Amino acid sequence: MKQVVVHPERCVGCMQCMLACATAHSKTLHLFTAVREDPLPKPRIHVGAGIHGEGFPNRCRHCDPAPCMLACLPGAISRIPETNTVVIDPDTCINCASCAMACPFGVIRYHGDAAAPPGKAVAVKCDNCTARQKKGMVPACVEVCKSGALTFEEPASALGRKTREVARSVSRDAGGEPIAPGFALLNAVKRSQIEMEKR
Ligand code: SF4
Ligand code: SF4
Repeated sequence: MKQVVVHPERCVGCMQCMLACATAHSKTLHLFTAVREDPLPKPRIHVGAGIHGEGFPNRCRHCDPAPCMLACLPGAISRIPETNTVVIDPDTCINCASCAMACPFGVIRYHGDAAAPPGKAVAVKCDNCTARQKKGMVPACVEVCKSGALTFEEPASALGRKTREVARSVSRDAGGEPIAPGFALLNAVKRSQIEMEKR
């Protein structure tokens, strides 16, 4: 089953994914009109900065079992089996924040939302762009990310590819297929260290 896979070593911190996510969850689905909506649409993916300014796109992992789902006493959180997506029903949510306290990744926020009753703050998080997937589209964050930091694919194939990239990054004479920029940098650092140790 395809999922949004994060490749933080490719993120350039442009935050286009946040903008696209907020727009995809607006009433009008268009940036120029979405910015005038009430409530103002907000993203469900958040790009944080590492100690060297590296971007890290943080999003819901749709854990199984999901701690947020176990913590929600009113039963507002459920899983869509077809897409393995954990979703929150804004009509049932009582805004108690238990799910955010249970989430190990800090991806749940509380605010008004286009899908929530008017004036009601609810728990909001990534829904894997379920509405877009029903139309045969990929999640908005993936579509807009031009650096390849977000992909929509089978996790097993992504992990296999990443394992090969990491292995190649420590190989002195890699050659052949190109490696990702982040790993190329690691490769260069590793080679420098080896050269310095030789002196
Ligand atoms: S759009 Fe891609 S490169 Fe830009 S911040 Fe988001 S994940 Fe990073
Ligand atoms: S804030 Fe809403 S979704 Fe989260 S645990 Fe409470 S009722 Fe459930």
